[in-house]
Amino acid sequence: MPSIGGKFSEPIANWAASGARYYSIGFYYRQRFGAPVRKISLDAGMNCPNRDGTLGSQGCIFCDPASFSPSRRLAGLSISQQIARGIQTLSARGHVTKFVAYFQPGTNTYAPVDRLRAVYEEALDNPQVVGIAIGTRPDCLPPPVLDLLAEISARTFLVLEIGLQSIRDGSLQWLRRGHDYQCFCRAVEAAAKYGLKVGAHVILGLPEESTHDAQATAQELNRLGVHSVKLHNLYAVRGTQLAGMLAAGQVRLPNMSEYVQLAADFLECLSPRCVVERLSGDAPPEYLIAPLWCRDKAAVRAAIEAELQRRDSRQGQRWHEQSDCGSKQC
Ligand code: SF4
Repeated sequence: MPSIGGKFSEPIANWAASGARYYSIGFYYRQRFGAPVRKISLDAGMNCPNRDGTLGSQGCIFCDPASFSPSRRLAGLSISQQIARGIQTLSARGHVTKFVAYFQPGTNTYAPVDRLRAVYEEALDNPQVVGIAIGTRPDCLPPPVLDLLAEISARTFLVLEIGLQSIRDGSLQWLRRGHDYQCFCRAVEAAAKYGLKVGAHVILGLPEESTHDAQATAQELNRLGVHSVKLHNLYAVRGTQLAGMLAAGQVRLPNMSEYVQLAADFLECLSPRCVVERLSGDAPPEYLIAPLWCRDKAAVRAAIEAELQRRDSRQGQRWHEQSDCGSKQC
C-alpha cells in the first residue's frame, strides 16, 4: 500500500547526532522555531459525538467524564484568558517566550465552522502563540472544517492531533471508540490532501495486544506519514468505566517494565521522520487510580531511553525507507 502523508521526500532531521534516542518534540520545536516552545492546554468547551448521544452517551471507556463538567474545565475563562494564564504559569518554570495553543478536552473540530474559527483565531491573536494543535476524532473532519484548517495552516503552524489508540478494530470496540481503523486512515488521507500535519494518539499495551501490535502500529504510522505521535499507557481515572473494570478484576494494566519494552519496540520501528511528542500518559494524582508508576513521567522516559541504550538502538533502528510503502517489513 502506498504512503499517504507525502512527507517522505523531506530530509531526516539530525536529531540522532546529539546522541538522542528518539526525535523529541523539544528538538523539533527548537529547529522549527529557533527557541524552546511549550504547549498551553485550552478548553474550548467542545462536546464529543461519543458523549452527546450521536454515537454514544458514555464515551470511550478511559475518557474522564469530569473533563466534560464545569468542575475540571477552565470554566468562565475565555480562550485569551486561558492563554494568558498558561503563559504566566509556564514562563515561571523557565525562560520560554513561544507557545503552541493546544485545544485538548473534547472533540475540537466538532462544532459549526464559525465557532471553530472564532476559538482558533482568538488563540492565534496572542503574539506569543506561534501555532495551534487541535485534538479531535477521525470521524469529525468534514470538508468545511478541513477547508478552515487548511486556510489557517497556510499561515501558521498547525497540527491536527487525531485519536487513533489502536490499529486493531477489536481493541477499538473494546475501548468503545465508535470508529474503526479505516476511519482513521481516511481522516489522515483527507488531511494530507489539505496539506495538514497529523499527529496520532496511540495506546500501547492494550489487552490482547502484543509486541507485534506495537510494531505494526509504528509501521502503519510510517505508511500514513503522520507528522508526530503521542504514546500513552492505558491508565484509569476515577469515574470511568475502565476504573470499574479494574476494580472488578476484569482488566490488567501493564507494569512499567512491560510498557517500557513495548515503547522501545514501537520506537525501533517508527520512522526517524516522525516526531515523538509524548512517551507515556498520566492524570492528576487526585484522579488517577492506576497504574501509579505513570505518575513519574520523567522516570518512564528515562527507563525507555535506558532500554534503547541497553539495546544499542534508537527510533528507526528497525525502520527501512521501503517499509513506508509496504514493500518491506519492519
Ligand atoms: S473521543 Fe475523546 S472526548 Fe470523545 S469520549 Fe473518546 S476520549 Fe472522550
